[in-house]
Amino acid sequence: MAEQITPRAENYSDWYIDIVLRARLADYSPVKGCMVIRPRGYALWEKIQSGLDGMFKETGHQNAYFPLLIPESFMRKEAEHVEGFAPELAVVTHGGGEQLEEPLVIRPTSETIIWSMYKKWIQSYRDLPLLINQWANVLRWEKRTRLFLRTAEFLWQEGHTAHATETEAREETLRMLGVYKTFAEEYMALPVFSGAKSDAEKFAGAVNTYAIEAMMQDRKSLQAGTSHFLGQNFAKAFDVTFQNSEGGLDHVWATSWGVSTRLIGALIMAHSDDSGLVVPPRLAPTQAVIVPIFKNQNKAQVLEYAGRLHARLKESTSVILDDDDNNSPGWKFTEYEMLGVPVRIEIGPRDMEAGKAVLVRRDTGVKETVEIDRVPARVAELLSDIQNGMFEKARKFRDDNTFEVDSYETFKGMFEGEKTGGFARSPWCGNPECEAKVKEDTKATIRVLPFDNEKEAGGKRCLVCGEPARNVAIFAKAY
Ligand SMILES: [Zn+2]
Repeated sequence: MAEQITPRAENYSDWYIDIVLRARLADYSPVKGCMVIRPRGYALWEKIQSGLDGMFKETGHQNAYFPLLIPESFMRKEAEHVEGFAPELAVVTHGGGEQLEEPLVIRPTSETIIWSMYKKWIQSYRDLPLLINQWANVLRWEKRTRLFLRTAEFLWQEGHTAHATETEAREETLRMLGVYKTFAEEYMALPVFSGAKSDAEKFAGAVNTYAIEAMMQDRKSLQAGTSHFLGQNFAKAFDVTFQNSEGGLDHVWATSWGVSTRLIGALIMAHSDDSGLVVPPRLAPTQAVIVPIFKNQNKAQVLEYAGRLHARLKESTSVILDDDDNNSPGWKFTEYEMLGVPVRIEIGPRDMEAGKAVLVRRDTGVKETVEIDRVPARVAELLSDIQNGMFEKARKFRDDNTFEVDSYETFKGMFEGEKTGGFARSPWCGNPECEAKVKEDTKATIRVLPFDNEKEAGGKRCLVCGEPARNVAIFAKAY
């Protein structure tokens, strides 16, 4: 039997780590704050990569690769950027046994090195737009880490685009935010709120940061992706200009956007249960498992029957046949629940004689008996039902835990002490002092300022100071 997972109700944090370790997704590394991504975790990352990569290419982007090491002086060229990242930088001072003339930082993000190259590549409006993405690792010296959710080194993608006009760059920023929202909802079955970040929460060096935010089962928020409008900040820092169509010289407009292996943490925290991982079928490396149930006297026939089904099902589904007889069927049921395989197919001697198989859904545990010829079609239906059902369940949970809160007393009550009362939609005047007071009093922060909510704010008064509200912000405690 697999070791027990701590129940969510008892300790949510322990439950999460138990799943990561027992489902063999990741492990602790000898270097504090780093993680080893094990094959099962990496297979999830590959599914995330392939889904997103297809969407990036459909929107006109190409992949490239830039170096891990960045001259330290590059980081200092954009004032806000260096101020934001300085505390998290790891710096290489020696190479080949000698002290380096100029220290090199290990990339915490790649704007600086990429814009130093864009200076060489962009001369004219004909060179624009430049739409590049890279899949890479980055390093940020984090002191408090948690597998997948916050680690010093992590894997991600970072898009860096260059445009001739502000309008185009702003469109790109929101287009990629839309790509992230679509991916989160349609692949990860994760409903998200999207919108702008307040100035206090935006990316160091950005003019505007936009994000998607999802609710986890402990009702905290998790930022699942960000897209930044960088204005001309990096073009000015690296002196990247182009000849416009009228013959004049302009600075280039920029965006950057990224998601990381943090998404795997989000996937676990949003959907899994006390029996283990629950994975939406579109991201499940294995979508179905066939578990034959046999005694010695009927082993050959049951395996042959199961093998025929496996061969048929393989044409349409990512399916494995577990015919290992070192483990009992009961052990296997528990194990595949732990690993989050969306559909289990049980085949015993009686099912074989009746020409049937038993299908069990991972998300609800519901069992049904199906004619063997109908299994491939029924599995396809179930995978689609599971995908939709997981999204609807997560959306209902989020909506049931999102509240309109206009009074600061009620608001404070929601987040008092250890309480993580979900999402509060509350009016805010736009003053950073009110935002800071909320954070100090409750640890809740503004997750996003949803689009087009100025109208909603009309006539309302700021939660904290009582001045006229400019936005209705979504506040929550966050990972
Ligand atoms: Zn205020």
